[in-house]
Amino acid sequence: MNQLATIQSNVEQVQENIRLACERANRDPGEITLVAVSKKNPVDVVLAAYQAGIRHFGENRVEEASKKIPLVNASVEDAPIWHMIGHIQSRKVDAVLPIFDQIHSVNRLKIAQKLSDKSPDSKTIPVLIEVNISGEEAKHGFDVFNWKQDKIRRDAFWDALKVLLALPNLKIRGLMTMAPFYPDPEQTRPVFAELVELKAAIENDLNVSMPDLSMGMTNDYEVAIEEGATIVRVGRAIFGARG
Ligand SMILES: *Cc1c(COP(=O)(O)O)cnc(C)c1O
Repeated sequence: MNQLATIQSNVEQVQENIRLACERANRDPGEITLVAVSKKNPVDVVLAAYQAGIRHFGENRVEEASKKIPLVNASVEDAPIWHMIGHIQSRKVDAVLPIFDQIHSVNRLKIAQKLSDKSPDSKTIPVLIEVNISGEEAKHGFDVFNWKQDKIRRDAFWDALKVLLALPNLKIRGLMTMAPFYPDPEQTRPVFAELVELKAAIENDLNVSMPDLSMGMTNDYEVAIEEGATIVRVGRAIFGARG
């Protein structure tokens, strides 16, 4: 198969798997946004996924995205929606804002503040708050490890959320997490279930609505959907292994 045909068939397969996961969980597939993670893939490959029907793309590096996104957008009639899913360095905020439509990786107060301050024309930016639920040291995100038992940690996160919710140009849409990698996706299920509980606790305690949960990648997106993901971030299952 040529590359376009391969990507087309990968997209169809992922969409079918999403449909089946929804069926198992009694959910409407219309609730799920598939973000195709196109990092490290060139423009022509991104356009192949666009042709296969993808309208949401995820990128994690500002340098790469700054080149790629304008080229993709210029090649299509209706620009897709671009999701920033990677760690944002403070000095890159100016470059992030003009090219991305949504940000999944708001993982510290300082970056949230900067995004809100620098938003062009005080445009409201939809964002997700990235949390580190598994306590892995290498992971970014607000530390919510053991939040059910650890009241001090929970209160600290609730306080941070109050600050985030008050920022004028950010619309907090929900939570995002990078689950630990387990070869068997069933092992990831409790992590996803815990994120669902965390979201419910926040909504209840802070009296806010946070509709979105961005969780699940190639290895575990079906389990994530069964547990309640509204956004899945899928790279390799669509584009193949990254070089
Ligand atoms: C790379 C990446 C993904 C996609 O991972 P795959 O295993 O290729 O599906 C999802 N989320 C984030 C934050 C990533 O960096």
